[in-house]
Amino acid sequence: MSVIRSQDAQTEGIPVTSCWNCRAAVTGAHFCAACGKVQPLPAGASYFAFFGLPQKLTIEPASLEGQFHMLSWKLHPDNFVRASEFERNLSLERSSQLNDAYRTLREPVARVEYLLEHLGVRKEGTTKQQAPPELLEEVFELNESLDELREARAAGGDVAALQGRLEAAQQNFQEDLDDVDAELAGLGREWDAAVDFGGDESTKKALLARMNEVLNRRAYIRNLVAGVQKELGG
Ligand SMILES: [Zn+2]
Repeated sequence: MSVIRSQDAQTEGIPVTSCWNCRAAVTGAHFCAACGKVQPLPAGASYFAFFGLPQKLTIEPASLEGQFHMLSWKLHPDNFVRASEFERNLSLERSSQLNDAYRTLREPVARVEYLLEHLGVRKEGTTKQQAPPELLEEVFELNESLDELREARAAGGDVAALQGRLEAAQQNFQEDLDDVDAELAGLGREWDAAVDFGGDESTKKALLARMNEVLNRRAYIRNLVAGVQKELGG
């Protein structure tokens, strides 16, 4: 048996199903257009599809927030007090998906991570803990300074100069992080253009791989900054 799938860019890949209540055709919509009943979540639908968005990385924050509030209001439990348990469960499922989708898509970095996870390029919560080659020297010096600081502290020596050096290093890494974010934003714009103008699969694949690499670098630097912060604060 073949499953009819939507050809619409916004609902791409979501199977066309029929409303559990009135049997009208629905494609991933929150509510049936014919009878207004809340619908089950389609399997495999992305957070982008949840908000009726194409899988692009530029999202207008005000419009996303507006949709979030409108849907929160429509899915509010108060609207389902007289509904059947089945319907109430559907609304709770949608509400919880709404919160997850909104939290993820409103953050530019989480949005990229999610897109890569959804497309199978990145596994959730995995980052390489290997230093990016261009940072090896800086990381080596940083670790030396951290060791010296710990030793000086243990020996009860003067740590002011060492702390100053670490603060400067932290500042440098913070700037690296800003560069990484700018790079990620640039790749995001390239990705959006590839989606808009039907870029070929190899171009898209290469962009996804580059974004993944930048995300790994970002996670690595963030860990470094957090480590220095902890050492300086402690
Ligand atoms: Zn219906």
